[in-house]
Parts: sequence; C-alpha cells; structure tokens
Amino acid sequence: MKRRPFLKQISLLAAATPIACSLGATGSAPSEASSPVVLRDESGEKKKLGVALVGLGYYSLKELGPALNLTADCYLAGVVTGDPEVKGKQWAKEYGFPEKNIYNYENFDSIKDNPDIDIVYVVLPNSMHEEFTVRSAKAGKHVICEKPLAMNPAECQRMIDACKAANVKFGVGYRCRYDPYTIATIEKAEERGSDNIHFIRSHAGYQMGENLEQWRLQKALAGTGALGNMGVYALQGAIYAAGENPISVSAQEFKTDPIKFDETDETVTFQLTFPSGAVANCATSHNAFMNDLRIDYTGGAYIDIDQFSAYRGQSGKTNQGPMDYPKVNQQQLQMDAFARHVRDGEPNLVPGEMGMRDMQIIEAILLSIKEGGKTISLKDLVF
Ligand code: NAD
Repeated sequence: MKRRPFLKQISLLAAATPIACSLGATGSAPSEASSPVVLRDESGEKKKLGVALVGLGYYSLKELGPALNLTADCYLAGVVTGDPEVKGKQWAKEYGFPEKNIYNYENFDSIKDNPDIDIVYVVLPNSMHEEFTVRSAKAGKHVICEKPLAMNPAECQRMIDACKAANVKFGVGYRCRYDPYTIATIEKAEERGSDNIHFIRSHAGYQMGENLEQWRLQKALAGTGALGNMGVYALQGAIYAAGENPISVSAQEFKTDPIKFDETDETVTFQLTFPSGAVANCATSHNAFMNDLRIDYTGGAYIDIDQFSAYRGQSGKTNQGPMDYPKVNQQQLQMDAFARHVRDGEPNLVPGEMGMRDMQIIEAILLSIKEGGKTISLKDLVF
C-alpha cells in the first residue's frame, strides 16, 4: 500500500484535532465551551457557524453534543426538543447558549428568524427525518440529517429537492468518512492500480437491548431494522473499499427471534458485485455483534480493520504491517467539514445524494429478499 498521501491527510487530521483524543464522550461540556464566542472575521462574516440539534436522545447526548465542544468551525447554538422546559434548559445551561435558542417540535419553524442558527442537525427517529429536513430547508437553514437518510428513496428525493429549492446545503451524518481507517481504504481504492480487489468482507451489527418498545423495533418509526441502522455501514464500507458503485445485489434475511423482530429485520446478508469484478459479502444484524472490514487484493495484499464502523477503538493491519493511525473524534471532523462546506465552499464528502443512493440499494436488498435472493441489478443510482 502506498502510504504517503494517506499519511499527509492523517497528519492534517491530527493537527486539526488537538484535544479530540483526550476527551471522552461524557455528555458534559468542558468549561471553555460554557460561553461560545461567535468569532467574526474582518468583514464581519461568522467564523464559527451555529448548529441546532433536533432530538436530544442518545446520539445527541453522548456523541454530538460533546463533539461540538471540540469543533473549530461550528458550535452548539441551540436545540429542538419535545421537552424545552427541563431538557432544553439543561442543555442551554451546559452549553452556554441563550434560552431563546430552545425550540420545540411545534414552534420549530420560527427558527427561520434566528440568525444564531446556521445549520440544523436532524437526530430523530428515521420516520421524522423527511419532515424535519424539509422544515429546516424551508426555514433557510443548512441541514445535516442522520442515517439512514429516510424511510425510502422517494422521501430522500423530496429532502434533496427541498434543500435545492431553498438553496441550502445538505449532508448525511456519515461520520466514518472522516475516520482515518476508512480513509485508508478509500485511498487504497484510488491508488490500487493493477492491484485488483478479489473479495471484500464488510460486517456491521450489534445485539439490541431487551426493550421491546424501542422505536428501532417499530417499522413505522424505523422503516427497516438492522439494514437501515447498521447495514448502511456494511454497505458504505464495501463501496468505499471498492471505490465504485455496485452494479448488482442479492440478499437473504434470517430471523432467530421472530417475536422481538416481528416488524423489522434481525439479520441480513447481502452480496454486491462491482464493475471492476470485485465482489463483496456483507452482513448486518440487530442480534449479533460484528464490526469488521477486510479487503483482499491481487498478490496477497490486504487491509483488515476491526471495529471499522465504531465511534472509536479501530485497529487494523495490512500485508505490510499494523495500521496505526491517530485517534480522532469522527463527529467533530464531520461537523467541521460540513461547516466549512457551508462557509467556505469546501467539497461535501457526504451529500444527501449519497444517503439516497444507499437507500436505493437498501430498497433493492429488500426486493431481493422478497424474491428469494434473486440478483437485482442496480440501475439509476443517483450518486
Ligand atoms: P434515541 O431514541 O436515543 O433519540 C431519539 C430522540 O427523538 C429522543 O430525544 C426522542 O425524545 C425524540 N423523539 C421525538 N419523537 C419521537 C418518537 N415518536 N419516538 C421516539 N423518539 C422520538 O435515538 P438515537 O440513537 O439518538 O437516534 C436518532 C437518529 O440518529 C437515528 O436516525 C439514528 O439512526 C441516528 N444515529 C446515528 C448514529 C451515527 O453513528 N451516525 C448513532 C446513533 C444514532
């Protein structure tokens, strides 16, 4: 593997994240963040863009909020919550934003008049992604929406259209794109030359807790089960590794607990083929732990990453030795990159269209399962 360009990018990452490694996701803010200062440059332009998190559940509390204490190009400027009185005020106090920047789901549209908020980050159950993305766009705010982007490609298209019509930027919360181990696979795909890929293995899943009421088990709120939640990581890993979109997919579904998983999929395996001839075997589950990505190239070359889609704790090796990259905060890098996309016109590496492409492939996976594992050709992918 040619390492030079990759190391260059990694060292830039490290320079940009001086405290990322030392701070865990505690949900509490370091003291210097208690009164975010909106720095402006000489022309009066904002240097740090204001982000409002919509939905203050697990991911906002444990990962995005703490990451917004580390970001250089954006900061937490407000929240949208079903509990503005208690939760909203707690967040305002902890992160030092004014209480006028707390919204509920009903008065959310008035965010359009709030100049503190530049970016709305939708962190709600999947069935609410479309509504809040469209409302954010109509309010003139740039949008990051969590994965899976929506319930189906038609919803994704409406979200993309709404952002285009409002002339706002649109990104997906695909944090792994900013992880050094994932970047290594992307760079290898770009540089591999005659090193053809023989096989990709990409697995992402976990065993869900026993709470049968959780929204991830409800089709109306989640859409799919493991497939949309963790399968997107397996899919993304395979596509990054191949460096091209797949041209066909076949899939199988397995259920060992039909009571718990009466509405949503439990374990799904799917196989992708790529124009170069590469093949990927992928798996995802809500009932088994799996998190690894392995790519085998011509001549015995390989990349083998453990925990590739985890928030942290990646490790890996190649045929040339251990992969040993700096620890980063993926969410910090992801949100800063989006803020620079909005502010400075830097490329958006995870645009809404990428989220829609993945929903198109998920739709084909569901069709293959329905048709007994039939191979479905993937045409008209939007990205
Ligand atoms: P969560 O259940 O912890 O939080 C969901 C939030 O939505 C809560 O604040 C809840 O009060 C609110 N909510 C509003 N209406 C609701 C309703 N009808 N039912 C349930 N909750 C409702 O979920 P989460 O883990 O924070 O996930 C939120 C989104 O973020 C999902 O789309 C998920 O896929 C995504 N996510 C992404 C990552 C990642 O690594 N990128 C990690 C976790 C979650």
